[in-house]
Amino acid sequence: MLDADIAKCFDRINHEVLLLKLNIKGKVRQQIKAWLKSGVIDTGVFTATSEGTPQGGVISPLLANIALHGLENRLIKYVETLPGIKAKNRENLGFVRYADDFVVLHKDIAVVQRCREIISEWLGGIGLELKPEKTRLTHTFKPELSEDGKAGFDFLGHHIQQYPAGKYRSNRNAYGTILGFNTRIIPSAKASKVHQEELGRIITKHRSSPQVTLIKDLNPVIRGWSSFYSNSDAQCVGELSKQDYLLYLKLRRWAKRQCGNSKDGHVKYWHSINGNNWVFATREGKANPFRLLSHSGYCSSSTSYVKVKGDKSPYDGDLIYWSSRLGTHPQMPNHKAKLLKQQKGKCPWCGLSFQDWDVLEVDHIIPKALSGKDEYKNLQLLHRHCHDEKTALDLKEIRRKDHSKFLEKLSQFWEKFDWKWVDDIPNFIGRAVRKSDMTNGQHTE
Ligand SMILES: [Zn+2]
Repeated sequence: MLDADIAKCFDRINHEVLLLKLNIKGKVRQQIKAWLKSGVIDTGVFTATSEGTPQGGVISPLLANIALHGLENRLIKYVETLPGIKAKNRENLGFVRYADDFVVLHKDIAVVQRCREIISEWLGGIGLELKPEKTRLTHTFKPELSEDGKAGFDFLGHHIQQYPAGKYRSNRNAYGTILGFNTRIIPSAKASKVHQEELGRIITKHRSSPQVTLIKDLNPVIRGWSSFYSNSDAQCVGELSKQDYLLYLKLRRWAKRQCGNSKDGHVKYWHSINGNNWVFATREGKANPFRLLSHSGYCSSSTSYVKVKGDKSPYDGDLIYWSSRLGTHPQMPNHKAKLLKQQKGKCPWCGLSFQDWDVLEVDHIIPKALSGKDEYKNLQLLHRHCHDEKTALDLKEIRRKDHSKFLEKLSQFWEKFDWKWVDDIPNFIGRAVRKSDMTNGQHTE
């Protein structure tokens, strides 16, 4: 495989080529051109952008995606010229790209080498080049076949490598043949280090803060990192427990600083919760201890990712594909998937099909406050915005019912004194009238 790195991709993208590729005319083209040329001001310092797009700019990855679009087709065109069946040759080439990060996979090293040359040529056309010291030809399994003697490669924060495995544990190919190796995808060493550094920075910042503030700041970072790797094999190789242990060492230093010695720190900040010893949490005696999330506890089972088909885009209007994919999404809880199937992928409120990016919420068809039950028959999935609309109507209904109950109680109350409660609902005004007055022509309110 070829693990490639484009030298200063964002700084060097050729404006003219990019605009040409956008293939638009008139005002929009002028506007984008003006953006490209306008330069950036970062912390008061102006930097010109006579070429390239600003690194870290929100639109830069999109522009890089547009600029590098077509590279894959160029490589496919090449492998089609190889001896053999065209379709088979296309299938044999692995090409994965995200913005400026990409890898090329092929079983024949000569093909990968030729791809490297083609990519260099192609990049030259848009003013870019491969960075020689960061571009490497490597093997996913055998270190001796890699240029630098190391097997595997990093891609988007993951390290991907194959390891030898006996016949019971080995991966099999599509025909059931034992391959003799397993593919493992784990957080890359660099990503793990960056994560620990971030946790370290937060702990240092909260040197003298209370424990609860520290936990509140750490939890979202732990949750984010762990869920990013929840589809990887991090759990199996103990990477998550390692992260927990390294974090524990940092917290132990923090606790020692707070208490003056580590023994008191342990007693004060670590507790046993639900049979789980060593939970970094606020005092146990309180009703709701605030506890630190653990990396390994967060994703307890690793789920395999359902890949989006290569040529599918959420914008392609293939609603059946996208709504059925939702049901098989590893992060879609079972009960939601069940409801989704029941509703045929549609929101009953607005009648539109759900899309991959929609926020879905479970709704009680008859609200619990109106004695609706907690069973599948009474549940439905709605868009969040649709759910808000329905809840507003439900609340109105609940209030109306509460109001009539209230009026009933008022009449009962006045009845005891032989008075009558007369209400005027539309105006929310009522009056009590003495009953005895009604017969003798008087009227006391
Ligand atoms: Zn809806």
